[in-house]
Amino acid sequence: METKCVFCQIASGEIKTELVASSEHCIAFNDIQPRQPVHILVVPREHFVDVSELALKSPEVMADLMALGAKVAAQQTHGSHRFTFNTGIEAGQSVFHAHGHITSVRAK
Ligand code: 5GP
Ligand code: ZN
Repeated sequence: METKCVFCQIASGEIKTELVASSEHCIAFNDIQPRQPVHILVVPREHFVDVSELALKSPEVMADLMALGAKVAAQQTHGSHRFTFNTGIEAGQSVFHAHGHITSVRAK
């Protein structure tokens, strides 16, 4: 039987997770171990190993992810935020399903 990664399981609802926002191709939910007062993950519903694979294989989903990140940042943060993508193990990627981190020191 195929083993799904943790973010595929969240996207399919197998692992119940409260969503902060969603779009046609992506979902956003709070990081389980927040490192900032706002720490939200923006994740494509479809499995891509990292953001580079996502950008190269599916510009439409990539654009949708960036737009959802911008919407979530406007709704949840005050002033400034970061939108980051750890890509590869030496860059700190620990879940190998593409995702962006929206982080901010000031929640709305
Ligand atoms: P990475 O280190 O790959 O850039 O980021 C993966 C992030 O996913 C980490 O910040 C980690 O805390 C978060 N994470 C891992 N497993 C889960 C989970 O089951 N639920 C949620 N909400 N976040 C998770
Ligand atoms: Zn996956």
